[in-house]
Amino acid sequence: MKFSARRLFSASLAGTVSALLLLGSVTASAAGEVNVYSYRQPFLIKPMFDAFTRKTGIEVNTVFAKKGLVERLKREGRNSPADLIFTVDIGRLSTAVNEGLTQPLENALLADKIPAEFRDPDGHWFGLTTRARIIVTSKERVKPGEIESYADLASEGMKGRICTRSGSHGYMVALIASVIANEGEEAARTWLTGIKDNLARKPQGNDRAQVKAIKEGECDVAVINSYYMGNMVTDEEQSAWADAVNIVFPDQSGRGTHMNISGMSLTAASPNKDNAIKLMEFLADDQAQRMYAEQNFEYPVNPQVNWSGLLESWGVFEMDKTPLAEIAKHRVTAAKMVNEIAYDG
Ligand code: FE
Repeated sequence: MKFSARRLFSASLAGTVSALLLLGSVTASAAGEVNVYSYRQPFLIKPMFDAFTRKTGIEVNTVFAKKGLVERLKREGRNSPADLIFTVDIGRLSTAVNEGLTQPLENALLADKIPAEFRDPDGHWFGLTTRARIIVTSKERVKPGEIESYADLASEGMKGRICTRSGSHGYMVALIASVIANEGEEAARTWLTGIKDNLARKPQGNDRAQVKAIKEGECDVAVINSYYMGNMVTDEEQSAWADAVNIVFPDQSGRGTHMNISGMSLTAASPNKDNAIKLMEFLADDQAQRMYAEQNFEYPVNPQVNWSGLLESWGVFEMDKTPLAEIAKHRVTAAKMVNEIAYDG
């Protein structure tokens, strides 16, 4: 009975309505939906949403797009069907908040499961997975211990040996903003200029392209997000790139490695708020945390949840505990700095 109810539930709208009428109050009370706008690809989030629906009977409808969802939310205003928005990077999360598209949520369970540095102190966004901005080094040309911190990227010995993507990309802007937050603007400018002077080539390509460049001998050291190592290891063509480098978790004797998040926000106009909160709570809990993190080689945001085998093999490390909300405040200055020093050439 339970199984057929579920089958009927996921049928067409007309089918669903008649199924609810047939099945009476038990199913009807479990019925309901929650609508998600997602910049994250369906394969990353669908398995968890399916698990949530199996557990609660609440359907999750997802609209996926690579861009334009924040603009769509804005356009739809109070009539938007969206309850939740899923995205990566503190930059994008901040944009939705600054546009007034989210609402604050005070929730004891989320506060308990998600470390303070990975959620908005005002409750407008919550991290679900984390990624480390790691340094990768050529196995052939960089000795162990030769580079151990972000500061080392600007050191004399790195002249002509570094590759990065564009300084104006969100991942770089967040890293630079974290340096500003911790060391101040002038120190950050000196540091960033030092890296620019050490570049082996004009910033170009995505994070993985930097690892490829190391493999091909164009440079010796790059800065990338940790999950790309997992993505490359499991890709036939790219595993050779990953094989060419060692992973360094920067600043282990300092403030720790810079982290960013993928996260979620409750929309300002959420029409299914109770269900949305149920989904948020579900995603912070062990089962979904493990699933979500593993799907994209990320770290669970919930520190109680075990890491995947691959991530464990990279070793434990100290994470920078600077609140992302604090780092986000320096994003504009960081982006300006990239232009002012002409980081991209
Ligand atoms: Fe990415």
